[in-house]
Amino acid sequence: MQSYDVVIAGGGTAGCSAAYNLGKSGKKVLIIEKNIHLGGTMTSAFVSPMMNTSKNQINTDFLEAFIKRMKHYKGQITYIDGNIGWFNPELAKIALDDLMQETNVDILFNSKISNLDISNKYIEAIYTDNINNKEDEILSTPIVTRYVIDTTGNCDVGKIARCNFLENNLQQQPTSLRFIMSGINLEKFSSWLMDFDKDRNVTTCYKSGNEIHLSTAYTWDASKQWALKPLFDEGVRDGIIKDEDRNYFQVFTIPGMTDAIGFNCPRIYFRDEINPLDAESASKALILGRQAIFRLSKFCIKYLKGFEKAYISNIADMLGVRVSRRIKGKYVYTVDDLKNGKKFKNPVLISNYPIDVHSNKNNKSILDTNIGEYQLPVESLMSCDIDNLFVAGRCLSADFYSQAALRIIPSCFSMGEGLAKYIIKKDVELISNKKLF
Ligand SMILES: Cc1cc2nc3c(=O)[nH]c(=O)nc-3n(C[C@H](O)[C@H](O)[C@H](O)COP(=O)(O)OP(=O)(O)OC[C@H]3O[C@@H](n4cnc5c(N)ncnc54)[C@H](O)[C@@H]3O)c2cc1C
Repeated sequence: MQSYDVVIAGGGTAGCSAAYNLGKSGKKVLIIEKNIHLGGTMTSAFVSPMMNTSKNQINTDFLEAFIKRMKHYKGQITYIDGNIGWFNPELAKIALDDLMQETNVDILFNSKISNLDISNKYIEAIYTDNINNKEDEILSTPIVTRYVIDTTGNCDVGKIARCNFLENNLQQQPTSLRFIMSGINLEKFSSWLMDFDKDRNVTTCYKSGNEIHLSTAYTWDASKQWALKPLFDEGVRDGIIKDEDRNYFQVFTIPGMTDAIGFNCPRIYFRDEINPLDAESASKALILGRQAIFRLSKFCIKYLKGFEKAYISNIADMLGVRVSRRIKGKYVYTVDDLKNGKKFKNPVLISNYPIDVHSNKNNKSILDTNIGEYQLPVESLMSCDIDNLFVAGRCLSADFYSQAALRIIPSCFSMGEGLAKYIIKKDVELISNKKLF
């Protein structure tokens, strides 16, 4: 029987940060990851860059180690906006492997937790879906652990443990399926775009070393003077794209990919919303997403200069989910806590990132920037049902609107790290008192 101090389900944004910090402190750690690489939404769903957050951010050891390793692979650039968070998602897979190896974290890829032994509100052992090689056994060998951290995004371990969750009240944010086009003449695209978007209110473009850094956007929301609007109108009129394809269009260059553009779209449009926890709905989303990607690529090739020889080079292998199942924790964080900047005894993060709610409907997206610094308590990462089950990342115990501010990558890093440090400290106390919970 294998034994670990901590088992982490989900080697994504928050999971890697927790694992790195626990491993660095000498804990025996196992990551169980359903995909074949680390990084989760950052790599599988191509979500880059990290959003900028407060200069007073805490629990940043993992962020710093990650950026350092990404620089080594030439997969990170700090542009004049000062954001260190522009990174290359493909190289991030390699950097994250390195960081886990250096901290002696074991990893099981292609695996999920399939079952749990729970006794007296305590997870005693876990089983994975890797069935034993022996013909007469259909269960995997149990893995014994003292702490389980659920960083699966959808809180899958909490579901298996029959934990309570927060009511969703049918509030959703749209899912997106991101993609990358390559073969683009970036010099040509950037000079055309700078000329086309005379106001430059949504377009950035400049040279950084040998690379062009460029970003632009368009949405059917009426709030800004979107330079690309006439082209989208024409694309819909010509039948190249559907009306819904312009509900959100955002593109930017990626460090180290010198002829490529990453797309933070399409938002997937299907009746009211996609439910990412429903396999049928999520499957439909992926198919619709890929169809929209094809239409958008035709649009770019036809209307954007520099895209004449461009092609779809990568489609994300993970649906981009902003919010889904959230655990009911020992503390349920609220939007009032966030807006009032409530202080806590054991904060895991400090941020000032706004409340960012995307919507598929015209003019319904919210970006509430009228907030100061706020903290998140570690108790929002503790299950209220199972004593040794913790969460980190977007499935934390927070209401819908506060989660919309807390889910960004730097905050997920801080959550994973703050939780790891809390467990390390707690473990010393528990071991010296010779009791576990
Ligand atoms: C479209 C989109 C755009 C965004 N844009 C930005 C942005 O520009 N900047 C920013 O900072 N943030 C952005 N975000 C938010 C941010 O990227 C995510 O909220 C954050 O990365 C989520 O981290 P996580 O650790 O909770 O989940 P993830 O990083 O998704 O990690 C979950 C991991 O668990 C694995 N997993 C899932 N289920 C299981 C299971 N049952 N067993 C084992 N493993 C499992 C997954 O494969 C994955 O590796 C965006 C999000 C989306 C969806």
